[in-house]
Amino acid sequence: DPSVCAPLPVLGRDVTVPLVTGGEVTYAALDYAASAPALQRVWDDVAAYAPYYGSVHRGAGYLSQLSTDLFENARRTVSEFLGCRDGDQVVFTRSTTDSLNLLAEALPAGCQVFVFETEHHASLLPWRNAQVTYLDAPRSPRQAVETLERALADREPHGPALVCVTGASNVTGELWPVRELAAAAHAHGARIVLDAAQLAPHHPVSVADLDVDWVAFSGHKLYAPFGSGVLAGRADWLREAEPYLAGGGASRKVARRTDGGVDVEWHETAARHEAGSPNVIGAYSIASACAALTEAGFDQLVAREQYLIEKVRAGLAEVPEVRILSLFGDDAPRVGVLSFVVEGWNSSHFAAALSAEYGIGVRDGLFCAHPLLRTLLGSDPQTQGECGAPEAAPGEKSLNAIRVSFGAGTPDEHVDRFVDAVRELVRDGARWNYRTEDGRCVP
Ligand code: PMP
Repeated sequence: DPSVCAPLPVLGRDVTVPLVTGGEVTYAALDYAASAPALQRVWDDVAAYAPYYGSVHRGAGYLSQLSTDLFENARRTVSEFLGCRDGDQVVFTRSTTDSLNLLAEALPAGCQVFVFETEHHASLLPWRNAQVTYLDAPRSPRQAVETLERALADREPHGPALVCVTGASNVTGELWPVRELAAAAHAHGARIVLDAAQLAPHHPVSVADLDVDWVAFSGHKLYAPFGSGVLAGRADWLREAEPYLAGGGASRKVARRTDGGVDVEWHETAARHEAGSPNVIGAYSIASACAALTEAGFDQLVAREQYLIEKVRAGLAEVPEVRILSLFGDDAPRVGVLSFVVEGWNSSHFAAALSAEYGIGVRDGLFCAHPLLRTLLGSDPQTQGECGAPEAAPGEKSLNAIRVSFGAGTPDEHVDRFVDAVRELVRDGARWNYRTEDGRCVP
């Protein structure tokens, strides 16, 4: 479709990989949901800044001042990107997992947590200090809202409560009714945190418009390098909580008491939860990615991604052996993330064949969402760790799945190659014998 914009330049476009059949081919990175390639623009921004690198909030020198300004400007850029409200805080973390664990540590005493069993483990597991209600997998967005409303109506109405929900599933790519879930949470006096790890790279996210209390995402899925993430939203719980890490930067004043102990005054800003020397490159690269996506225009990016999704969906629909996994129906709105199983194939062998024979990188396994996979597969999911072939012979019922995912940097050729490869593999059957080695599947 000529009206669709060109892919954004990303790193790794020219990387070639060897094929088991001989020769080599440019790598088709179709695992954006795990980690997206960094935008060239982000890399260029970081390279331009690198010579001026200095400590943040810790130096009088020119470069320290510059780095401090860049770090704090990055916070403002992210706040704008997320449509934060006045008074919201943007805390730089290591990742979505880190952001949600931070929030879990900041829950007020007696907080109840409500979370769908379909969540990624990063959203499902951090609430160890709270009383957690796990909600059954809904089969439609409407059922999700009804399930949440019922659970909240049953709770003790007084006392703090938090709902944690994904914006887009890392397994099915399906969009969740975030605005409606937020309204339901608030109607019952609960708060809500949005796991936007898969949503933010693909769709504009507005904290204010969606009326969510917090949002979490990771830099490495948003076209920035590893090691940085964000938790943004309401300041009150964060300000009242013990610091996530104790140390320099989080403390405003530390003094020996006459009884020999130590009194600490902690900051009430985001710095409270950012003890230690901050990851200035991580924050700067996230801000650069936010700026690049905003400049490219989400309307254009969404249109391009929907065009690619339709290509994949139409291609897979022609292969009756392929079963797409979905909670809300195969045609439900989704981001560029799609999981499937292939009748007669062990998913790990199929993913290994895509890599070894076509140079296509997808993911196989359970995607850190074991309860969801059990629901979608209708069987006890099994794998070795998160990826790799389980002890199932080809032809047996799928014990795990294959995920293809893409985004702003994906050229048409990658999804075309993927669809052709699926068609060919299903038609021809296994041409190589795939076996497990070190938890990976190899020919
Ligand atoms: N939530 C979702 C929906 C995810 O897809 C992921 C990563 N797969 C995470 C949370 C965790 O992100 P990270 O590994 O960057 O902490």
